[in-house]
Amino acid sequence: MEEYEIAVIGGGPAGMMAAIAASENSSSVVLLEKNPKLGRKLLITGGGRCNITNQKPIKTLLNIYPQKNFLKHSFYTLTNEKLLSFFEDRGLNFIEEDNNRIFPETERSRDILEVLTYYLKDVVIRYNFEVNSISDDFIINNEIKANKIIIATGGVTYPQTGCNIKNYSLTSQPLTDIRYGLVPLISKKDLSDIAGITLYDVVISYKKSKVKGNVLFSHVGLTGPGIIDLSNEISDSISYNLLDDQSPQISFEISIDLCPDYTRENLQEKFTIDFQQKGKTLLKNYLKSFLTNSFINFFLEECKIDGETQLSRINKKSKNRLIENLKRLSFEITGFNKDLAKVTIGGVDLANVNPKTMESTVTPNLYFAGEVLDVHGPTGGYNLKIAFSTGFLAGLSAGEK
Ligand SMILES: Cc1cc2nc3c(=O)[nH]c(=O)nc-3n(C[C@H](O)[C@H](O)[C@H](O)COP(=O)(O)OP(=O)(O)OC[C@H]3O[C@@H](n4cnc5c(N)ncnc54)[C@H](O)[C@@H]3O)c2cc1C
Repeated sequence: MEEYEIAVIGGGPAGMMAAIAASENSSSVVLLEKNPKLGRKLLITGGGRCNITNQKPIKTLLNIYPQKNFLKHSFYTLTNEKLLSFFEDRGLNFIEEDNNRIFPETERSRDILEVLTYYLKDVVIRYNFEVNSISDDFIINNEIKANKIIIATGGVTYPQTGCNIKNYSLTSQPLTDIRYGLVPLISKKDLSDIAGITLYDVVISYKKSKVKGNVLFSHVGLTGPGIIDLSNEISDSISYNLLDDQSPQISFEISIDLCPDYTRENLQEKFTIDFQQKGKTLLKNYLKSFLTNSFINFFLEECKIDGETQLSRINKKSKNRLIENLKRLSFEITGFNKDLAKVTIGGVDLANVNPKTMESTVTPNLYFAGEVLDVHGPTGGYNLKIAFSTGFLAGLSAGEK
């Protein structure tokens, strides 16, 4: 049987960083990856450009995460400066884009992977090694014995990259409900006529939550940054657990304020004046000052008003219907587009993990890093930030113990 001081399970960003940090203090580290290559999911991040982190000041950054207290120590241990300097020391520099998003200046995820692979030079890497069992005395697949184990097997999304829901059983720890995050929504209504249309800077509402952003319609539903960001809150508020049911039946409504710069009263006033002054204008043409051209037909169908009607002929009831739909166009949502979910909400319960070390408080010498933990963030580099920081802290702690 092979024996190691530390075994890291999962060669994603969290596992690679854990193995690198562990190998600084231990010469006996093995990284076990079920795929023939490392970092499959890392390669597709940021559309292949890898939005590696977010450059907001650390306090502001932490406030964005629901689990900020748990993440605090790992973020201060591996700061953005330290993370980026890993790569800069190997000649890979970074650019900052809108919303403090950081990308490698080559705009290629594979360059990030190449640097990480360089730093793994002192680690034994076992490819095509799928961990199926960990015994109580830390024997993995009856083949490898380790004194300490770091589990970094990721979540459930994009299974083609190596993630698998059955991995949660390896953790042998209490888990919170596993749910989809950063996920497009499936609508009951057929939206194929408006697929590909983007609504810019609209306000999307779900119950009491509101997000301002862009909405992109797809053949099956709604996506785009505004929807994706709101989806974490939606998923969080619904009771389901993918460990019990991987296609949960859901039904709820979201609405879109198509004219957030106008109140209903503003629109009433404006319509009253315009409908008199521009009486001969056709409604479908008038709406061009409020809506993207290609969206007008769909909007009029929703309002059940003929776009060929002249403004002077629109009665009070129809006017109110137009205003109501401009301020609150609603969509019934019947599912999550799970194949496109980017992160997993839920995982190893943080109540049983020491935030100063990432070690389990239930099972000594067992550590966790990355998405397998009950941690998640919005889009913008926030999730890789979690993977690298918790991975680094887990590896450092296991190596030093
Ligand atoms: C399309 C897409 C784009 C994204 N873009 C961004 C972005 O730009 N910025 C950002 O911050 N976040 C992004 N994310 C989220 C980010 O990729 C994840 O949060 C991050 O990869 C999690 O890292 P991880 O190491 O915890 O897990 P993973 O990256 O999922 O790695 C887990 C690894 O463990 C291996 N493994 C699993 N089970 C076993 C087993 N039993 N035995 C051995 N090995 C196993 C897997 O093969 C995999 O290599 C994106 C996600 C997706 C899907």
